[in-house]
Amino acid sequence: MQALALDLRRKNTQIGFVPTMGFLHKGHLRLMARARQLVGNNGVVVASVFVNPTQFGPAEDYSTYPRDLARDARLCREAGVDIMFVPTAAQMYPKQGRKEFSTFVVEEKLSRSMEGLSRPTHFRGVTTVVAKLFNLVLPTVAVFGAKDWQQAMIVRRMVADLNFPVRIVVAPTVREPDGLAMSSRNQYLSQDERRQATILWRAICRAKEIVRSASKPVSAHLLKQELAMLISTQPAAQVDYIEFFQSDTLDPLEEVEPGAHIAMAVRIGRTRLIDNAKL
Ligand code: AMP
Repeated sequence: MQALALDLRRKNTQIGFVPTMGFLHKGHLRLMARARQLVGNNGVVVASVFVNPTQFGPAEDYSTYPRDLARDARLCREAGVDIMFVPTAAQMYPKQGRKEFSTFVVEEKLSRSMEGLSRPTHFRGVTTVVAKLFNLVLPTVAVFGAKDWQQAMIVRRMVADLNFPVRIVVAPTVREPDGLAMSSRNQYLSQDERRQATILWRAICRAKEIVRSASKPVSAHLLKQELAMLISTQPAAQVDYIEFFQSDTLDPLEEVEPGAHIAMAVRIGRTRLIDNAKL
């Protein structure tokens, strides 16, 4: 992959990159379309499919994460992806001998809150694999989804801090008609859980309503209580966190006004879902 990318870069070819963990859905496909738009028809669009073991905690779903490479390949082809990059875990993280892997990239501020609290080693895995993928694919532009807002902001930070010569573009969250953010993990939901899973989007919409109709800033504490109550109307739902923060810095807010960002993680049965939006 790196030899190919070096060759393309020598010829001044733009490389648009979409990193994924596969089991592709319309959210991923939208990122690929955006990458094409950004590099044009003379550019090359690369999509990677790699279920990255280092971003999963020991009790998480690494082994059961849905995988269907044949389907992913077909969808990539249909989406006009030029190169599908599918490294193996053993190639990315050699375990033995002189090549044993022992270097990690750690972002130390933005990755402390929200997902970072619930999943302590998650972002270390994300920044490490994204740094490796950037060095392999040598993209001129990389497209990330707003669905994983904290991740996108951390990647932005890493790219600025470590001077990666790549532009980061964040594309909007693609949703099902009922508002549920598309996710490979939606696959885990039973029919009944799938219905209950719309509560994340409904809670976000409720927060928007409250904040936009208020004549003054709303207490984050009270708003969290109100949303937690709404979410608890769904028997399978269990709130992990609800946070309000400034979009780019992720600085937490005590008072919430229109333009503030909300993010939440909610378990629906055994499936942990996340969502976020600007209010
Ligand atoms: P994943 O395969 O879940 O690691 O996601 C790969 C990329 O697709 C990340 O940049 C995600 O933020 C993005 N993505 C996942 N779901 C969506 C969605 N529903 N809308 C937009 N982007 C998404």
